[in-house]
Amino acid sequence: MNSFVFAHSDTEGKVSVLINRCMIPFLDLNQINAPYQSEIEAAVLRVVRSGWYILGKELQSFEEAFANYSQASYAIGVGNGLDALTLILKAYNFEVGSEIIVPANTYIASILPVSFLSLKPILVEPDPRTMLLDVSQIEKVISPDTRAILTVDLYGKSCDMEAIQELASRHHLKVITDAAQAHGAKFKGRKVGSIADATAFSFYPTKNLGALGDAGAITTNDPQLARKLKSLRNYGSEIRYQNDLQGHNSRMDEIQAAVLGVKLPWLDRDNQARRQIAEAYLEGIRQPEVILPPSDTHQEDSWHLFVLRHPDRPRALAHLTAQGVETQVHYPTAIHRQQAYKSLSSLTLPITEAIHQQVISIPLHPQLTRQQVNQVIEAVNSIPL
Ligand SMILES: *Cc1c(COP(=O)(O)O)cnc(C)c1O
Repeated sequence: MNSFVFAHSDTEGKVSVLINRCMIPFLDLNQINAPYQSEIEAAVLRVVRSGWYILGKELQSFEEAFANYSQASYAIGVGNGLDALTLILKAYNFEVGSEIIVPANTYIASILPVSFLSLKPILVEPDPRTMLLDVSQIEKVISPDTRAILTVDLYGKSCDMEAIQELASRHHLKVITDAAQAHGAKFKGRKVGSIADATAFSFYPTKNLGALGDAGAITTNDPQLARKLKSLRNYGSEIRYQNDLQGHNSRMDEIQAAVLGVKLPWLDRDNQARRQIAEAYLEGIRQPEVILPPSDTHQEDSWHLFVLRHPDRPRALAHLTAQGVETQVHYPTAIHRQQAYKSLSSLTLPITEAIHQQVISIPLHPQLTRQQVNQVIEAVNSIPL
């Protein structure tokens, strides 16, 4: 990357200024949080001075705001996205060995909670067009041991929740959504956090709504589940030192809740900026080998990532880097090909494997300038054939 960094010497000959002339970073958290900097600092200071750091009024007020934003009855703040999913599965108390249907194309955090609770993840190939759970593949893997369908709104796009819920209610299955990449995304006008029986969110700093550390939340419309989750995140206790369940310690802390409270009112504006950039990419990128992400629901997607596919990824990545465009790969290795999941290595999932070989994420965040967007488009369009 250093071919894009120009060092200027001052009169004393010391290198004093580095100008990053045209490298477009994939993501820069300083830049992401810059519009909220002074409000965030004030909120953090307020907590520091309050003398109350865990399970206080900052969390309560964020939970109310996030439930309201998500069009859900309840939001429960937890330690991170992985814990959000783990606590949901734990709250449902599925018997050991129960089968949970999961997409094969996802981040490992969607599947680990299933394993943690000695449940069995049943990996399903994605729809090659959307790269999301393929509803037509679900019914054939439903067995008497199936208890839930775990949908993942990967890259910020909702799964087909109508079809999934119809299937789930016919087979008496729970629907759990991993919306760690889909804050503010909708399915047919409904917020993703309001549709499944329970929805897990992550506020990892790079997500569309990001904290300054780890944080997560669960949304649900089920009052009993909400109550149980509040207990499970706090040692299984509703009354201090009275433990009714073997719970976890997974509480969103007051500082993170205060930071998220500052940023939440701007989430829709940020997502709208992401949509405009995604639309510019969808319109401007014309390279015969590049497969663009689907655009049919682009107005409803949260565009956490803009993931295109190229049959010769190393060639495409080398070109984009040479053009000053920083890219990432989400994700390079399929879960059933990971060392941690040797137990699943006998699976053959050709669609999932092809996706993992071809995907490229190009920069997409609310602070990208029109000029940078154009530079990315030109870089993609000039990938040599
Ligand atoms: C980020 C992410 C998670 C995990 O969230 P953490 O807060 O890092 O635990 C889970 N699933 C998906 C799809 C994610 O992108």
